[in-house]
Amino acid sequence: MSIMHLIITEKNISAQRIAGMLAGKEKVASSKEGGVAVYRFSDVVVVGLRGHVVEVDFEPGYSNWRSAEHTPRSLIDAGIIKVPTEKKIVQLVQKLARKADLVTIATDFDTEGELIGKEALELIREVNKTVRVDRARFSAITPDEIRHAFSHTTELDLALAAAGEARQAVDLMWGASLTRFISLAARRGGANILSVGRVQSPTLAMIVDREKEIEAFVPMKYWQLSLLTRKNGEGVEARHNTARFDDQKAAEAARSRTCPPLTVTEVREGTKIDRAPPPFDTTGFIVAAARLGFSAANAMRIAEDLYMNGFISYPRTDNTAYPKTLDLGGILATIRNTEFAKAVEYVIAHRRPSPTQGKKLSTDHPPIHPTGAASREILGDDRWKVYELVARRFLATLSPDARWATVKVNFDAGGEPYTATGGRLLEPGWRTVYPYTEAKEHALPAFIEGEKLPIEKVTLEVKETQPPPRYTQSRLIQQMEELGLGTKSTRHEVIGKLVSRKYVEGTPLRPTLVGRAVTESLERHALDITRPGMTQTLESHMQQIKERKRSREDVVRESKQMLHRAFDELEPHEEEIRNEIMEQTAEELTLGPCPACGADIRIRHLRGQSQFIGCTNYPECGFNIGLPMVMWGFAVRTDECCPVHQLHHVRLVKKGVRPWDIGCPLCHHIATNRETLMLMPSMTEPLHKILNSFHLYSVFDIVKTGPDSLAKMLSISGEAAAGLFVEAEDVLALLRKRSDCRKFVRKHLIPRRGRSPSKVVKKLHESGIDDLSDLAKADLKILQEAGMGEGEAGELKRQAKMIANARLLREIGIPAVSLKKYQEAEMDSPDDFLAIHPAAISHRTGLSPETVCRHAELVAKALGRPAPEKCTKTQLAKGKSGFLEIPGIGEEILGRFYRAGIVSPEDLLAADPASLGARTGISVEKIIAYRKSYIARRDHSTGRE
Ligand SMILES: [Zn+2]
Ligand SMILES: [Zn+2]
Repeated sequence: MSIMHLIITEKNISAQRIAGMLAGKEKVASSKEGGVAVYRFSDVVVVGLRGHVVEVDFEPGYSNWRSAEHTPRSLIDAGIIKVPTEKKIVQLVQKLARKADLVTIATDFDTEGELIGKEALELIREVNKTVRVDRARFSAITPDEIRHAFSHTTELDLALAAAGEARQAVDLMWGASLTRFISLAARRGGANILSVGRVQSPTLAMIVDREKEIEAFVPMKYWQLSLLTRKNGEGVEARHNTARFDDQKAAEAARSRTCPPLTVTEVREGTKIDRAPPPFDTTGFIVAAARLGFSAANAMRIAEDLYMNGFISYPRTDNTAYPKTLDLGGILATIRNTEFAKAVEYVIAHRRPSPTQGKKLSTDHPPIHPTGAASREILGDDRWKVYELVARRFLATLSPDARWATVKVNFDAGGEPYTATGGRLLEPGWRTVYPYTEAKEHALPAFIEGEKLPIEKVTLEVKETQPPPRYTQSRLIQQMEELGLGTKSTRHEVIGKLVSRKYVEGTPLRPTLVGRAVTESLERHALDITRPGMTQTLESHMQQIKERKRSREDVVRESKQMLHRAFDELEPHEEEIRNEIMEQTAEELTLGPCPACGADIRIRHLRGQSQFIGCTNYPECGFNIGLPMVMWGFAVRTDECCPVHQLHHVRLVKKGVRPWDIGCPLCHHIATNRETLMLMPSMTEPLHKILNSFHLYSVFDIVKTGPDSLAKMLSISGEAAAGLFVEAEDVLALLRKRSDCRKFVRKHLIPRRGRSPSKVVKKLHESGIDDLSDLAKADLKILQEAGMGEGEAGELKRQAKMIANARLLREIGIPAVSLKKYQEAEMDSPDDFLAIHPAAISHRTGLSPETVCRHAELVAKALGRPAPEKCTKTQLAKGKSGFLEIPGIGEEILGRFYRAGIVSPEDLLAADPASLGARTGISVEKIIAYRKSYIARRDHSTGRE
């Protein structure tokens, strides 16, 4: 029996590549099993995970945020379970593991990779208790590394995985409990929650603190003195030896003392070493990539892709020294036949005795370096730029230092000391292969000690000290690293979260009002959450887990205690926290002065679904502007301001969709209501302007104001005001009908490309069709012109008619129960009641003739038409029994007679057979036969011969 060797990698792409490398000359068969890619050769099966295929969550029962039993604090001690997130992959791994004789875990080589490996191991143990499991560790996906790793496999490092598990658990309980507490305190839900995190909150605090420093900064004036001289026709600037004068008088005195001749007192020449840069660790790489315009997250994404595809080594590393085992010459050979040929030749010819190295040494991975040859064509622009940066950095670390010739010239002018400096690149060294930092040369003409020169100009400049700069993403990552916040793998993700949660914005980063409010409130009530100390402690505990000095349980328990202490501080101040955050964040929703009363108007969100702009002076001031539902985008304020209304612009933002700019909400409001106002017959441009100036923007506003107030407000006669009021009411009624019509069309017309319901409705309005009864009566041609097919138009008409009739009959007073019977009998048009004999309607609907007659009377009255003939139950019953005695007459024939108003055999005798035949569709012969038969029976029963 052949053995089966299962290899599990971190991602599908690494599975594919590793399979190819291990197979050597053998062919790899790739296929899909259960929707997951699998690579097979001889007795080996390789499957890629998708990073974590399980995630941690609380045991069931904790999902309700407002549960009285499970408060935010209770999450600290809630049980944690693992839930599969990639079910298909989990199923396949378990299916294969059942049959496996050997499993090799080949996930990335770091804490996260070890944890992913442990998760896979647990899945395997669920189905196969005895299979041998080993671990392959590598720092680059290249044939040599991979073959070496698989021939030197070791055990899974459970301590390393436990450190990862501890971090997962701690992050979950910190994030969930505090996020829930703060969000509930500030009454925020849905898309608006306020997230708090172990690493995230101290990082945000750094950005907030920097902003406060900038705000508190008081610029100081200082003065700088310089002069211009000339040597061999070349202008040379020299600066006063006092680089900054804090005192204006002293600076001016020095300037007035500065007088010719300018004497050269000393010329000092020297050389300066310009060190070649150290190898890239993750942070160094992110900083260098930022200079090329890549955000931290983007740089890491591209680097991971290059790693997976074998072009560079693992990009998550803290190491800045190449390990002795790394074959530097081999790497040079690998990239020799590429665009870097000349650079490689240079390095080979000038290679420094040992490569540069930075301060950080670790043993997990080597610094980032190229592992495969590539070209711009293969990689595309962005990937190439990142690859080139890594390759050139590698070359720079093997290149000699650069050397500069420096010169410093000291001058004397009337007793005042001045200096000029110059620099010239003697040996470019590493700068030959690494062009990313500019070498600024500044050559000076040759000066001779004692020579005297002219002074062409003396300049006194006044300047101001500058506040500290805001953090760029890469600077922040450096700072986080210094403070021990996060890891090389997570720092850029934390910053990404701060941006996506709208806590920070812009480049460089500045805090938003919300970011600031949350930070300040946390600082006031639970300072530790925003300080790096707690998280540094956890990092050191994780190190202890890795070194097997502490257990995971122990570390998690300590973290729980820390968190409980934070809640001890927070919980008594929930009310204050609410007020602080709500007060501070109100501003970000405040748009500016209310046009009606001058108080602020503000964006309001209701239960995460609807939103509008309302006045803060509500209920005294009822001014408001409607906004589209939240599903179309969440309304936020922008920095732009309307020059006419002094209101901030409003924008609807939705993830993954281009934002929808509403602009000035009042301009928008006026524009959208203009068209309907213009439907009022006496509306004119000047009147529209006047109405707006009195904050009447819509017909609704006019109706709400009422004729009396209108007259006073606009200083017009009561009559004129009443006229406007009635017109506005008419338009409002028309708008209601139209909106009803629009809803109907939207509901019944299947949307099609180029035929939006609103477009169809607009065409209908133009043809004078404003409501359902118009539509019911409409010419099919008009409907077709509006974009409907013939069948569709007919069906739409029929539906409209039914609804319009039903509405009319309800209005007239027909009860719903009866209405339903009329509809079922298809006798639901008001006209039917007047045209069809009540006997026929009663016969078809089963309603009593009295009821039908009463309804018919209501209809006639409403339509101003004469009421139809009446009939009663007794009358009908008598006639019916007479009819049913006649052979050949059944319910069907009866119905036809009723429709023609023939309700008794007597009526039959009185009618003209020919015209009755035509009206009922019964043949004249039959009618005559029924009559004869009836007469015979009647005569017989009365005894006449
Ligand atoms: Zn107001
Ligand atoms: Zn405006």
